[in-house]
Amino acid sequence: MKSVAMSTHVMPTYTRLPITFEKGQGVWLWDDQGKRYLDALSGIAVCGLGHAHEGIQNALAIQAGRLIHTSNLYQVGLQENLAQKLSHLSGLDHVFFCNSGAEANEAAIKIARSYGHRLDIEIPTIVVMENSFHGRTLATLTATGNPTAQKGFEPLVEGFIRVPFDDIDALNVLRKNPNIVAVLVEPVQGEGGVNIPSKDYLKRLRRICDDSKWLLMLDEVQTGIGRTGRWFAYQHAEIIPDVCTLAKALGNGVPIGACLTRGEASLQLTAGKHGSTFGGNPLACCAALTVIDTIKQENLVEQAAEMGRYIIDRLSDSLKNNNHIVNLQGLGLMIGIELDRPCGELTQKALKQQLLINVTAGNTIRLLPPLILKKPEADLLVDTLSNLLA
Ligand code: PLP
Repeated sequence: MKSVAMSTHVMPTYTRLPITFEKGQGVWLWDDQGKRYLDALSGIAVCGLGHAHEGIQNALAIQAGRLIHTSNLYQVGLQENLAQKLSHLSGLDHVFFCNSGAEANEAAIKIARSYGHRLDIEIPTIVVMENSFHGRTLATLTATGNPTAQKGFEPLVEGFIRVPFDDIDALNVLRKNPNIVAVLVEPVQGEGGVNIPSKDYLKRLRRICDDSKWLLMLDEVQTGIGRTGRWFAYQHAEIIPDVCTLAKALGNGVPIGACLTRGEASLQLTAGKHGSTFGGNPLACCAALTVIDTIKQENLVEQAAEMGRYIIDRLSDSLKNNNHIVNLQGLGLMIGIELDRPCGELTQKALKQQLLINVTAGNTIRLLPPLILKKPEADLLVDTLSNLLA
């Protein structure tokens, strides 16, 4: 691992680790010194199929040679195909395509507001959660439950009310508020720690939204496309939201976001109400179609569920005598190990052991390995991490 020269022209937006990766293959990455690392982060839940996947390479090469972009002024056949596949997998009906998670959530927020205005609600208000993360644009930053991320960018956007995550009583109290039009929530929070709500949370939320005529809008940007051992995390709860947002793993690294809708939510973004130059272009849609087909062909949703259980079992065992562990939880391959103290330095220490992990919310180790992870690599991950924590 060699330290990299400070770039003077890239904005210092990120605290970057001193390492540059030059190539990848499957669950492995190589740095510019030729050293190999186990990737247990997948570019933050993006590269579900790992790196340099042959199917993706071939599909993209063919598509790039055929057509990359036309514009949404014309019909885009691959968009139609992708929307149909997503609709079939999700139980929702329509899709707006964009380029990132924040954009998918912006579309959801606009849908909720438009829905509210149709009901003659002057200040349509969306319920959002503490410790949530929805993006960095102004509206999604406002929806995000992180005052540190918001600080310095005021005035924030009107029309949001915050309640604690996994607290049905707090939502019940809001039922009297006539301005509320929607609830925006992550089925499993990923940036404010790895927070899995109570088993019946989403079901109860669905019931409240139905009774109150609120849209249930699930941010599955991090949890979607197989990550939690189902195509979408809400499928664990056997409900269907009115709006579901996706990005990250949908393109395996090719930027694409999607806002899925059904019912009233599908009626809001009519011609001229929303748009995106790049959104759903043939190259991005080709990547997403290949991702979905490959996940199906290789049974990766089931594999993620099984491998997630295996990792949790092994970690529970190997960490059972470590009294700094406050909580170990996971759903599929979204796993959090909460410690009793800040542990940001562990990412550097893991890097020295040739392992890529992440620390979120200051004290939670977050593991988001590729869905293609197999047992020997899972064992290496658990052993390296357990040694590190010892
Ligand atoms: N929503 C969730 C749950 C996320 O985890 C993220 C990114 O981490 C976003 C939204 C924002 O996505 P993007 O960075 O693609 O805008």
